[in-house]
Amino acid sequence: MALSTEKTDALKRVLRFYQALGVDRVPLAVPSASDGLSAIRADMGECTRCKLHKGRTNIVFGEGNPSARLMFIGEGPGKDEDVKGRPFVGEAGQLLDRLIERMGLSRQEVYIANIVKCRPPGNRDPEDDEVDTCMGFLRQQIDAIRPEVIIALGRIAAQTLLDTKMPITKMRGKFQRYGDILVMPTFHPAYLLRNPKDKMLVWADAQEVLHKLGLEVR
Ligand code: URA
Repeated sequence: MALSTEKTDALKRVLRFYQALGVDRVPLAVPSASDGLSAIRADMGECTRCKLHKGRTNIVFGEGNPSARLMFIGEGPGKDEDVKGRPFVGEAGQLLDRLIERMGLSRQEVYIANIVKCRPPGNRDPEDDEVDTCMGFLRQQIDAIRPEVIIALGRIAAQTLLDTKMPITKMRGKFQRYGDILVMPTFHPAYLLRNPKDKMLVWADAQEVLHKLGLEVR
């Protein structure tokens, strides 16, 4: 596409401005968070880096807004997620959807990912070598999205992100830090399916997050 004379002249003025500052190359496009996520997914490919690949149907990379202010991080895909290749789409996912909705948000506005991207057999906890192998990708996703707050869903997510062995019952409800990103540890939705009375605590944690983001607390 040819540029008009005015646009070309304006571009030349901008380039002269940068040259005067000693910058001789100006990037015409800065990579977006979405480009970053696509590159991470491409790098992951049909991953066989750990033993979880043997039993998986689909890699569950994560989904949502590449520039989300709020990220939810769970443990790893279950049966439904493995089949669909999408995070939190089973029964626990429906509970997470209700929480997101109650926060006045939608799945499209936030980003949802997991510590490991392939289903551990029989929904067992991911093992250390599997977590270590997969975490590099999650770290890159967090770097690309740069959320203001992460809600860590459950013990495995919170302990892994925060590099601690502290029980989730001690951690939940108190902001922690992952670099300069605030992390709110809370209970996993699957735990809430078994202990519905603790939904109140998770809602309290979510309200803290809304407050921190300057969003309306209903
Ligand atoms: N549990 C998780 O931790 N992650 C999912 O994606 C689904 C269930």
